[in-house]
Amino acid sequence: MNTADYVLFDPEVVRRPPGSPCFSCEIVSRTDSRHHVWYEDDVAIAFLNLYPRLLGYTLVAPKRHLEDVTGDFAISEYLALQRAVYRVGEALRSVLPTERLYILSLGSRQANAHVHWHVAPLPPGVPFEEQQFAALDRPVVLAPNDAEQEHLAKQLGEAVTARRM
Ligand SMILES: [Zn+2]
Repeated sequence: MNTADYVLFDPEVVRRPPGSPCFSCEIVSRTDSRHHVWYEDDVAIAFLNLYPRLLGYTLVAPKRHLEDVTGDFAISEYLALQRAVYRVGEALRSVLPTERLYILSLGSRQANAHVHWHVAPLPPGVPFEEQQFAALDRPVVLAPNDAEQEHLAKQLGEAVTARRM
């Protein structure tokens, strides 16, 4: 996979003016078809980040529009969502060389209010000063082409099925 190319990232592309349709709900309803969804169960959906700093960078979101990272969830629903995060993480680790798997929830009411988890595999060999937050906040993003992303999404989906997690 030729993913060595990077492009400058404009953070404004993810800002949503007040009243805009919800980015994640549009993916759940398949209104926005640009995304490569590769995992879905009763409570969660996972798709490749359109602006990936790392290859395989995936976002996991509840299918319901929830905003507070803990407060909007019944604990059973939260744990079901975390099961999806686990499955996504294990699929990523099985498909991509991963020195460390980063999992975190951020979000902004000005960008993507629908709560979501970032699941991003750090490849081996990244210099120490480029790991952790630096790896996720670079001013550039990978520019894999759509066919490469589609292929990766297919591999990841098959990994979930193969592992029967
Ligand atoms: Zn939503």
